[in-house]
Amino acid sequence: MSITTSYSLCLTSPSLSKTPQTLTKKSFNLSISCKLSSSPSSPSSLPSLIRNEPVFAAPAPIITPILRKGMGTESYEAAIEGLKKLLSENGGLEAVAAAKIEQITAELQTVDKPAAAFNPVERLKTGFIHFKKEKYEKNPALYGELAKGQSPKFMVFACADSRVCPSHVLDFQPGEAFMVRNVANMVPAYDQITQTGVGAAVEYAVLHLKVENIVVIGHSACGGIKGLMSFPYDGSTSTDFIENWVKIGAPAKAKVKAENGSLSPAQQCTLCEKEAVNVSLGNLLTYPFVRDGLVKKTLALKGGYYDFVNGSFELWGLDFGLTPTLSVREVASVLHWKL
Ligand SMILES: [Zn+2]
Repeated sequence: MSITTSYSLCLTSPSLSKTPQTLTKKSFNLSISCKLSSSPSSPSSLPSLIRNEPVFAAPAPIITPILRKGMGTESYEAAIEGLKKLLSENGGLEAVAAAKIEQITAELQTVDKPAAAFNPVERLKTGFIHFKKEKYEKNPALYGELAKGQSPKFMVFACADSRVCPSHVLDFQPGEAFMVRNVANMVPAYDQITQTGVGAAVEYAVLHLKVENIVVIGHSACGGIKGLMSFPYDGSTSTDFIENWVKIGAPAKAKVKAENGSLSPAQQCTLCEKEAVNVSLGNLLTYPFVRDGLVKKTLALKGGYYDFVNGSFELWGLDFGLTPTLSVREVASVLHWKL
């Protein structure tokens, strides 16, 4: 692959049109070019971004510990020598010295050892090397098949929360689940103007990958749902994006507040975490190709809830009694929403 981009800028003297008899065209050409190239032996492959070998030049250590004289080994040894000398000259101090040393030892045992500095590049490198050695190289059949293409059975919507990765929780192997993760695992209603990211993912999964199941998975202690439940939505805003995004789950919030408003905020959040999954399942019905798949029974929708506090997982299905022309309003009436 080779990409060359160049920009040319031509500057011509402004005196050119005024004094043609003394035409002296002055031009300056400024050219900027850049080129991206990969190995000519694999012209159609994408550049390899991660390799099982050092990728980055190791940066110089930013902090080099410096031991100053008087603070290091020398002063420690001098102090011990001084103590030995004192004790040899005055044996009566031994008991006092022993008690003091015991006290100092106890104090030193409580001193925190300095934590090793986190090195993100090293973490990524060792992570990939572990994956390559323990998984990639041990499963040539799987990764050989995946090199040809993917045909996942599942599309999964899960929260971006770092604790709820579906590949871990549900043991999905590479190629099994086409995944979208966002704040509070929301699926917005079909909208070609403002929700193109999710729309493109659903369209690709359903029409091109032909996934057989779409699973929306909520989870315990979801910060996005907590936000949804606590944002006032009174015209004031305190976030650039979050309030507007999690508002997708507003029908769930309204339902929980109406039916369980007397419960504690934490209990209401738990209910809303599950109810918001149902809202997303309902929103999936606003995508024509999802409805079509459900009617033809080539596609099923499922809701899930992962409770990482108790280590449990719930799964449920929803039967909407679909017709091919089901409208958003009809879906809303099935789910008892107010539009
Ligand atoms: Zn969450």
